[in-house]
Amino acid sequence: MEKRSIYADNAATTAVSEAVLEAMLPHFRTAYGNASSIYKLGRDAQRDIEAAREKVAKAIGAEPREIFFTSCGSESDNWAIKGTAEQLAKKGKKHIITSVFEHHAVLHTCEYLEKKGFEVTYVPVSDKGLIDPEDVKNAIRDDTALVTIMYANNEIGTIQPIEEIAAICKEKKVIFHTDAVQAVGHVDIDVKKQGIDMLSLSGHKIHAQKGIGVLYVRKGIILPNLIHGGAQERNKRAGTENVPAIVGLGVAIEAATKNIAEKNAVITPRRNRLIDGILQLPYTRLNGDRDKRLPGNLNISIEGIEGESLLLMLDQYGICASSGSACTSGSLDPSHVLLSIGLKHEIAHGSLRLSIEEDVTDEDVDYILEVIPKVVERLRSMSPVWEKMMKGESYN
Ligand code: PLP
Repeated sequence: MEKRSIYADNAATTAVSEAVLEAMLPHFRTAYGNASSIYKLGRDAQRDIEAAREKVAKAIGAEPREIFFTSCGSESDNWAIKGTAEQLAKKGKKHIITSVFEHHAVLHTCEYLEKKGFEVTYVPVSDKGLIDPEDVKNAIRDDTALVTIMYANNEIGTIQPIEEIAAICKEKKVIFHTDAVQAVGHVDIDVKKQGIDMLSLSGHKIHAQKGIGVLYVRKGIILPNLIHGGAQERNKRAGTENVPAIVGLGVAIEAATKNIAEKNAVITPRRNRLIDGILQLPYTRLNGDRDKRLPGNLNISIEGIEGESLLLMLDQYGICASSGSACTSGSLDPSHVLLSIGLKHEIAHGSLRLSIEEDVTDEDVDYILEVIPKVVERLRSMSPVWEKMMKGESYN
């Protein structure tokens, strides 16, 4: 078997595309003006920022003035949640609703606010990794300031009933924010049609560079500044604009949101073949609903092995994969996402996430399906847990 090089970890980050890089380069070389300067070099930079803002707005069905550039998805989440909390606390609204399996950019922000005297309700998720809109509805109170529910989960890829949740929030007059960092470019998003009040996205998940994000804020919603200083971003988010990154994001989001259906028609069958192939191994299970998931995502628990060892061995075969989110792999704590769908600690430890795009070919899928059984067999043969499982002994 000839060794291949396969990147199957696009949920962690993506490669900057050639088109993005090409669009960015002049902004390092010749078009380096500060967008606040009044001479042509500055005005050109301002023009290019606004062109990128229009592209982002178009890609998600928003108006350009509702788009704010930030430094990353985490900043967008922080701003949406802390900003709304601060603003509505003035009206006595100090309750926030989120889910147990959000990204830490949301969960840790909510925990911070709890320490500041806010109350947070964490709605549960089902064993399929789905949130029940009724749970959100039942959690809403007179003093609820914000509902923040992720569009698609970063580990198990499950897509949430965003429109139903947005409709409930609208009816109850509660602001609805969604962390769509994993969803943009993989599902069609139209914030107006879907009733989304605020949305976070991140450039590095859609082939732009790391360190650029967006917060969409529906007009009429007032957020206090997260960063104080100059008048950039309509006086809302100070700091000299990262022009190359903003321009790159404009190109990236335009490409990512074009032909989503065609892209998914290529990716989904390959992803399904991977799921079916890996599930042939005994003592494996797919985490998250099979259909209501991102087209390129699969997350499978493989009993009797450690996720980290699996990743290291896959790396030797040239396969980049993940065992949880990029932030939690490297830590020995089992993923809060996998625990939230009811997995036991020892099973959550042995999970594999692959997140593929069109560049993972059918031949690559064949290769992965050849490698994984070998690696799993090897790891299980060395695993005391697996030995006990096979003898029917308790291994806790
Ligand atoms: N939200 C989700 C769902 C994510 O997957 C990530 C990154 O993995 C983030 C937020 C944070 O985005 P960034 O890395 O741009 O801060």
